[in-house]
Amino acid sequence: MRSVLLALTDELRRLKASGVRAVSVSEDSLVTLRQLVAARRAAASPPADAPVEPPAPEARAGESRMEVSTLRQAAASAVRLLPPPPEVVLPGGDKSVRWQALREQVLNHPVCRAHVRPGKKVVFGVGSLDARIMFVGEAPGAEEEQQGEPFVGPAGQLLTKMIKAMGLERSDVYIGNIMNWRPELPSRADGTQVGNREPTPEEMTFCLPFITAQIDVVSPALIVALGATAARGLLGPHSFRTLGDVRGRWHDYRGRPLRVTYHPSYLLRKEVEGKAAAQRAKRTAWEDFLAVMERAVLPITDKQRNYFL
Ligand code: URA
Repeated sequence: MRSVLLALTDELRRLKASGVRAVSVSEDSLVTLRQLVAARRAAASPPADAPVEPPAPEARAGESRMEVSTLRQAAASAVRLLPPPPEVVLPGGDKSVRWQALREQVLNHPVCRAHVRPGKKVVFGVGSLDARIMFVGEAPGAEEEQQGEPFVGPAGQLLTKMIKAMGLERSDVYIGNIMNWRPELPSRADGTQVGNREPTPEEMTFCLPFITAQIDVVSPALIVALGATAARGLLGPHSFRTLGDVRGRWHDYRGRPLRVTYHPSYLLRKEVEGKAAAQRAKRTAWEDFLAVMERAVLPITDKQRNYFL
């Protein structure tokens, strides 16, 4: 157990040294950490009737206090890190006025801005304000935070191809994300971030009002959640165990039909497993897209029905 706590404090020190200003810790993790620390303290303190031992050497006592206080600081910073989710208040007016006001609020929100690295952008949804179909993804990646637009990297290019395969253009639909900044990971010495991670529940909770407000303003006829994070964000954090539990049928998102499908990144990752696996996964996702087309009363040709078969 001690080694777990030491590994954790080492990791926190490493993150701090690499410039990370704060870390997010979920409520569940905090509970586990508190239990670990309490158990370690209990193990370290003798029972009331045990013979009194000479005090431990200073260095060890100091080290132990250091672990506990470092963990407390991490916990405190996690609580301080993200304030309660913002309340979105929009002016009256048509869709365009309300959408512009919402976009300004998100792009200029101090919490969103504080989470993007120098030279990178907060990412807000794009597309038609009259879209009948809204796609909701997880969070921006490297290309997205660079351009300030969702789904413009490799996963985005695949999504764009799939939208075209539906007989639509990107500009016919609306595309947003659960989160508006790229979830932070330690950066290289030159300040660039390597890799992506899933948003924490706290990050998702904070950003949710922004995607909810976009759904309210655009008012699409139906929503497609791309991947488990988007589905958890919209359907609730504990609404399912695996994506298979919610794929392949319609859900209700505050009165709108919602379909869950694979995230395009998952489809790209499948290509590593070989052509057949990728083809199968793409066909499964395409069946979700066909269901969406049917529900949106879009024309479907035989060729479209047979994609990826
Ligand atoms: N993945 C997402 O979920 N969203 C993006 O914008 C890009 C990649």
